[in-house]
Amino acid sequence: MERVVIVGAGTFGASLAWWLTRRGDDVTLVDQFEPGDPRATSGGETRLIRCTHGADADYARMARRARTLWRELERESGEELMTECGVSWFAHRDDGWEADSLRTLGAEGIPAERLEVGEAARAFPSFKGDDLAWVLHEPEAGVLRAQKAVQTLAREAARHGAKLVRGRAAPDGERVLAGGATLEADRVIWSCGGWLAGLFPEHVTLRVTRQELFFFDGGPEWATAPGWVDYDRAFYGTGDIDGLGVKVAWDKEGPPLDPDADLPGPSDEVERTSRAYAAERFPALAQAPLVLSKRCRYEISPDSHFIAAPHPGHANVWIVGGGSGHGFKHGPAMAERLTRAWHEHAPLPPRFALGAREYAASLRSAGSNR
Ligand SMILES: Cc1cc2nc3c(=O)[nH]c(=O)nc-3n(C[C@H](O)[C@H](O)[C@H](O)COP(=O)(O)OP(=O)(O)OC[C@H]3O[C@@H](n4cnc5c(N)ncnc54)[C@H](O)[C@@H]3O)c2cc1C
Repeated sequence: MERVVIVGAGTFGASLAWWLTRRGDDVTLVDQFEPGDPRATSGGETRLIRCTHGADADYARMARRARTLWRELERESGEELMTECGVSWFAHRDDGWEADSLRTLGAEGIPAERLEVGEAARAFPSFKGDDLAWVLHEPEAGVLRAQKAVQTLAREAARHGAKLVRGRAAPDGERVLAGGATLEADRVIWSCGGWLAGLFPEHVTLRVTRQELFFFDGGPEWATAPGWVDYDRAFYGTGDIDGLGVKVAWDKEGPPLDPDADLPGPSDEVERTSRAYAAERFPALAQAPLVLSKRCRYEISPDSHFIAAPHPGHANVWIVGGGSGHGFKHGPAMAERLTRAWHEHAPLPPRFALGAREYAASLRSAGSNR
């Protein structure tokens, strides 16, 4: 049994709290906000869960494992967190991200199929795909209710004995200063999303950017539509999950936004571009009323790979984050992986290490990772 302090109750920190308390560790989970707060990146209503990661088999396997663990959390908590509506990837060519993904998923035994455009179109109430070569469909992918999932993780962790502490924390060597108290532990994890670079500027490089989401009233027929990603054109979205509206998001990397700054109002350019894509791809949405728009932040590592590594000066202090617009789904599987690294000496991928990183293409869409 270890005494563990986790700072940051987003998908990475709350998943760790859930995982470690079930193992019998004595966990304190600190956050400046309530779990699921919209100012945290994990505080959005929905996030896609998919195994498709181009040629990258490691993330594909981790996402698949995460799917099993989210189901386990659903069974344990009685909450419905995942909708398995499938995710369709719109391929513009035969040799791109989707073709790499199809090969990788096939080799890993993860269900995925190559569909003709006309066949894929039938899953959407309205679809125009004459610019597409084919569609990769992952039937067991879908949508996670992100905010609810993080709140459920924290609640289940508390039920298993975790102490939840509200307060802004600061590192003091191996200790954590929070709300006037000094917390000591066998292991400390800083899973602070977009705030990590400010807390550890000498070790962490992240770009925190402003992103926007638009939800259209397309009617009830969109409730069962698959999630979708147009990787090359950098758009993604979902059907109408829980009556929120049909989600359409432009994945182009937005302007920098300090993690502590208020979230600004919608930008005309992003709204215009998102509407234009919606009207082109899903013609029935051309006149659909906008019911909701949201702003949030990405925290992007230089190569879009996650960060999970010990602090160079303190072996029992760990830095975890760098979700880079694709981290949510992996939360519970990352927690399991970290626990195995700590207690079974299972190696973590070297690419999760701290230190300089080379640019690499984004693992969410071609919306740029620079
Ligand atoms: C618009 C959008 C769409 C996305 N789509 C997807 C998707 O489809 N699929 C997917 O898998 N991922 C997606 N992501 C990415 C995913 O949401 C993030 O990678 C993930 O939520 C990051 O989780 P985190 O735990 O690292 O950070 P966060 O959720 O930000 O959590 C960090 C926590 O640390 C706390 N904190 C920070 N500093 C301190 C401090 N000093 N003291 C106390 N508390 C502190 C914060 O309050 C916060 O609660 C998307 C992200 C965005 C913004």
